[in-house]
Amino acid sequence: MGKKLTKRAEDYSKWYNELVVKADLAENSGVRGCMVIKPYGFAIWEKMQAELDRMFKETGHQNAYFPLFVPKSLFEAEEKNAEGFAKECAVVTHYRLKNDPDKEGKLMVDPEAKLEEELVVRPTSEAIIWNTYKNWIQSYRDLPILINQWANVVRWEMRTRLFLRTAEFLWQEGHTAHATKDEAIAETVQMNDIYAEFVENFMAVPVIKGVKSESERFAGAEDTYCIEALMQDGKALQAGTSHFLGQNFAKAFDVKFANKEGKQDYVWATSWGVSTRLMGALIMTHSDDNGLILPPNLAPIQVAIVPIYKGEEQLDAISERIAPLVKELRAKGISVKYDNRDTHKPGFKFNEYELKGVPVRLAIGQRDMENGTFEVARRDTLEKETVAEADVVAKIEELLEDIQKNMYKKALDYRESHITEVNDFEEFKEVLEAKGGFLSAHWDGTAETEEKIKELTKATIRCIPMDAKEEAGQCVFSGKPSNRRVLFAKAY
Ligand code: AMP
Repeated sequence: MGKKLTKRAEDYSKWYNELVVKADLAENSGVRGCMVIKPYGFAIWEKMQAELDRMFKETGHQNAYFPLFVPKSLFEAEEKNAEGFAKECAVVTHYRLKNDPDKEGKLMVDPEAKLEEELVVRPTSEAIIWNTYKNWIQSYRDLPILINQWANVVRWEMRTRLFLRTAEFLWQEGHTAHATKDEAIAETVQMNDIYAEFVENFMAVPVIKGVKSESERFAGAEDTYCIEALMQDGKALQAGTSHFLGQNFAKAFDVKFANKEGKQDYVWATSWGVSTRLMGALIMTHSDDNGLILPPNLAPIQVAIVPIYKGEEQLDAISERIAPLVKELRAKGISVKYDNRDTHKPGFKFNEYELKGVPVRLAIGQRDMENGTFEVARRDTLEKETVAEADVVAKIEELLEDIQKNMYKKALDYRESHITEVNDFEEFKEVLEAKGGFLSAHWDGTAETEEKIKELTKATIRCIPMDAKEEAGQCVFSGKPSNRRVLFAKAY
């Protein structure tokens, strides 16, 4: 298994990178900024996908698929969106290579195979989708359209980090079309709520729901709703976004419909997405110096069983004892791995399951065989106890529920103790340096102040919380009047 992980307190970012690789979640690839997601990491992502997909379908959405390439002329159509993504687009210019014998057999771009129109590799799919919706929508009877796509996108990020920010990432993007503004806004809010529900109940990560300031808004949106989480190092992470796009894309792509009164009107739009960044949020929120800690609701293996034995005869006896237990747990929908590999010692296996964050580990040795017991260990608190065979299934069920709850509570306690109200700029800087976390502060509502604060402290406005109360105050930077607090933080 190699040497121990760097400790979080020593170097948080190094700890994170080592953990992602050692726990077999992902690794850097031969392509700049792009990662390989390994089977164990992908199994977690698949569980996330399955649950989100279920929630989308329950709220009336259907999956579809649109092209990876966006012709430049379509990409340009919605100006703000194009401008916002222009600096991070990969562009396909040629469709062929040629083998040039003069250049030691190296493949060169064939200058004769230059595309007439360049293709942008989608950084997001509004353009290609709204160009399609144009053909699908004539009247109010064709609305709403509630579509989601599971896909990969490319944004040429300069500073990348496994899962949190990669040049290519996996995500889902919902794109909906509506007859009225109110309906589109309700959809935007609903999807942000669904994200919050998923992240809290499945990932055990508490989030703050809010609205972005204008400068943090998605390019081309009228409003961006978001969920913001807090990592263990006191930095915030945008975990999901839901955009109210107004009629911007309908106007850019000329998507009109006849309303009930027979009048032509532009269609209202939303889009919303979460990405493989959620994996980063999961790892950074819960894990410790020994490795990953996975919430039972997303753990690919919920229970690992390790036999401790000498010789084949003892192993056979243990296997026989284990078989009905494994069967019973599986019948209850609990994923179990009975690790009877004879190529690795029990100690190695214990370390491996700890590193990989398996919520519950059972061990059974000779004394347990004689006494009819198991040693049961929980990953979140590292506590161990001896449990009688007759009680072990109930114990496991109880533990899985308790671990899920306990992980959420621990993360929530941390988050709550890292939201600090600050009332002047000195205090703002002090708390940000000493403690980090969210700073709840008055802001005068201008982009200049926001920019200045960012320049001086690296903190940005994470969101204007949905539940922010009206409160008369003065901007923490300019002293100008403000009527509610917003949340600032340094962010990933
Ligand atoms: P956006 O379309 O910019 O609103 O982003 C949709 C979702 O993808 C948000 O949850 C972002 O946090 C996430 N995201 C944006 N850029 C990246 C990236 N480079 N790598 C991983 N996730 C990203």
